[in-house]
Amino acid sequence: MGNRLAGKVCVITGAGSGIGREAAILFAQEGGKVVVADVNTAGGEETVRLIRHGGGEAIFVRTDVTKAAEVEALVRTAEETYGKLDVMFNNAGIFPDEDGSVVDTPEEVWDRVMAVNLKGVFLGCKYAIPAMLRAGGGSIINTASFVALMGAAVPQIAYTASKGGVLAMTREIAIEFARKNIRANALCPGPVDTPLLRSILSDPAKRQRRLVHIPMGRFAQAREVAQAALFLASDESSYVTATAFLVDGGITAAYITPEE
Ligand code: NAD
Repeated sequence: MGNRLAGKVCVITGAGSGIGREAAILFAQEGGKVVVADVNTAGGEETVRLIRHGGGEAIFVRTDVTKAAEVEALVRTAEETYGKLDVMFNNAGIFPDEDGSVVDTPEEVWDRVMAVNLKGVFLGCKYAIPAMLRAGGGSIINTASFVALMGAAVPQIAYTASKGGVLAMTREIAIEFARKNIRANALCPGPVDTPLLRSILSDPAKRQRRLVHIPMGRFAQAREVAQAALFLASDESSYVTATAFLVDGGITAAYITPEE
């Protein structure tokens, strides 16, 4: 057990799987008290079980991040259970297969992606910030993506637009609250090997179409993104705010990548 988050109360949305689960486990190993939030009860409860098995402290609060009342209750539960809120990791996100080109993505899919990926982050900040002000400060980490910065010929138009929105919104929040001891950063991962990318990772042609653009020649592991979130959550990043914090294996800086 480390102490990089000793005593800090951390809410993580989408912590029932992938990056969120890895972050929840890592934050707890570093002394954080973790409030695991997810719409998927089985996944969220499993994350709590894994944390407690490792001697860490966590509770699960079933939360749909698209519902204001549920996000408000999530923050209230964190404060009531652990006394305050220090870290809000707005990580929940979806990536539906039906999200494609602007000319054929159904309106319903656009609305659903925006509700989870963009409004969900808005609601997380809306209710976390007053709690952080009560606590004397805090760190907000909003998950965007490298696609907030780059276009792709294999489009997911709603997903990309939602992540661009997360990036812009996070920057403005960071500036507004910069003198209130609240930091806000947009975490921008490259492609990560999690269930979210299942349909791409399981298809060799789709995998290869992406791998050729990654200088490191591999996808990220969820743990590698969680490590970046840990840095942004901890006081080690005390002068880091309003960033597009890239964890992308060099994708956004590359023109031609190594052949082998
Ligand atoms: P994942 O699918 O493994 O986990 C996402 C979790 O969010 C799931 O447990 C799911 O139940 C939960 N969730 C979905 N809708 C929700 C809602 N309405 N309320 C609460 N929880 C909800 O995905 P992941 O890869 O770990 O993704 C985490 C974040 O990272 C997402 O925001 C995603 O867009 C982003 N991201 C992922 C990648 C990647 O390649 N995997 C790359 C860049 C950014």
